[in-house]
Amino acid sequence: MANQLLDKVKTRRTFAIISHPDAGKTTITEQLLLFGGVIRQAGTVKARKTGNYATSDWMEIEKQRGISVTSSVMQFEYDGKRINILDTPGHQDFSEDTYRTLMAVDAAVMVIDSAKGIEPQTKKLFKVVKQRGIPIFTFMNKLDRDGRPPLDLIAELEDLLGIEGVAMDWPIGSGQTLKGLYDIANHRVELYHKDEADRFIPLDENGKLPESEPLSQDPQFAETLDDIDLIKEAGNTFDPEKIATGDQTPVFFGSALTNFGVETFLKSFVELAPAPESHEVNGDEELKADDPEFSGFVFKIQANMNPHHRDRIAFVRVASGEFNRGLDVTLARTGKTIRLNNATEFMSSERVQVDDAVAGDIVGLYDTGNFQIGDSIYAGKKKIEFPALPEFTPELFMRVTAKNVMKQKSFHKGMNQLVQEGAIQLYRNYATDEYILGAVGQLQFEVFKFRMQNEYNSEVEMTSIGHRVARWIDPEQLDPTMSNSRNLLVKDRYDNPLFLFENEFAERFFQDKYPDVKLTEKL
Ligand code: GDP
Repeated sequence: MANQLLDKVKTRRTFAIISHPDAGKTTITEQLLLFGGVIRQAGTVKARKTGNYATSDWMEIEKQRGISVTSSVMQFEYDGKRINILDTPGHQDFSEDTYRTLMAVDAAVMVIDSAKGIEPQTKKLFKVVKQRGIPIFTFMNKLDRDGRPPLDLIAELEDLLGIEGVAMDWPIGSGQTLKGLYDIANHRVELYHKDEADRFIPLDENGKLPESEPLSQDPQFAETLDDIDLIKEAGNTFDPEKIATGDQTPVFFGSALTNFGVETFLKSFVELAPAPESHEVNGDEELKADDPEFSGFVFKIQANMNPHHRDRIAFVRVASGEFNRGLDVTLARTGKTIRLNNATEFMSSERVQVDDAVAGDIVGLYDTGNFQIGDSIYAGKKKIEFPALPEFTPELFMRVTAKNVMKQKSFHKGMNQLVQEGAIQLYRNYATDEYILGAVGQLQFEVFKFRMQNEYNSEVEMTSIGHRVARWIDPEQLDPTMSNSRNLLVKDRYDNPLFLFENEFAERFFQDKYPDVKLTEKL
């Protein structure tokens, strides 16, 4: 039994794709699903994004935006592996959920537009992933367009992100003259624009193409061979240990739109990316993924915005053991036993009842209010508690009041519950006690407003304070006169004081004025 479980767990690859909007995350996800046979036609995921997709009646806001809850987790099989891709929305849909999702994966794939290089949102998400010390893979996309030289792109990884890049494959030509990809890891060449079947040509023992292959005579191929000699000599050496800790990233090149380099990437990725291993629990104990007792933690709660369906879905990352329908679990926070009758595993276009979710998989639990973000659940006798999920520093702030002063009670109830659930963060003005909401993405405010009205019958009034830089200050060093309009003094829900600076300049100005005051930033 235990061995069977281990065999299953070893096939799991659970990851998220991080990127700046428009780098090609949707396009590459779609290609991956095509390889996995989950969708048959390119355009399915894309259609979802543009709103042409038949979404379920989940959430009004989601529907309006054309995202579907079922797309939060996509699962497919490839090369004997069960792959879970967790969606990390970009654009407006960016929220704390995006960050928390990164707490539930075993690896991340960073998609970069090879013409633009590393962009701001990639940098932010990278920071969170880096903190976790998990492997990070890089896909340099849009090779069919004239982009930056591959060596520059790799150098930028080190310069801007502080991570070593190690090339796994190398372009032959680029943009208009793109001919193929030299696949160092798999010892073959992937030709650009060739039929599926004869796309891959094995290299000989000297790393050359057979002479019968026209590309072998191409001066661009000779250039690629020179580049490869150069990176072998002067580049970073492939180091599995550094990859495992996120100190080195394997770099792949390709063009998601033309389905070039994606399979080459996927083939290496499933081999190099880790299967679920272990989690630290109860402070300092190691819980192995193949421990026979089921355990997991809630990393995201998706509310159903339809007033007729008050239920929510709690997304659980299975950390150990196996999930079966009807399983009785204990909720560590309350000690309460809950029977998990109604669980769902996610496929790209439909929800499927779970039968064999094991460590690494994600299950969605229908929830009537039992769960909070960060909750631990376990099936064994021994209590299992996962470390708290980090709180992320919000960047957007709003003042909030109840529209109807007579309805303070439902306002406070809703606010408390949504804050506890982790939907949004709450602050109070230090001097006036007025409520201030903080979020990492605009969508969180909209969801908050919607849910306050629908679930708690409380209409709220919100006025934007806009973008602010939040920095905590040691209470011992605090002097309320330090606050002014450019650095609003507030307290978080644990009563810790912090400043909301108008911008980085205001922060620097403050630091110049009070050089001894130590300001800290959360993740
Ligand atoms: P996302 O915002 O990161 O999900 O990006 P999308 O996958 O939606 O892609 C953004 C735009 O870039 C779309 O117009 C895509 O068709 C285009 N795109 C994606 N991959 C490639 C590529 O490899 N080459 C080119 N030329 N365009 C691409």
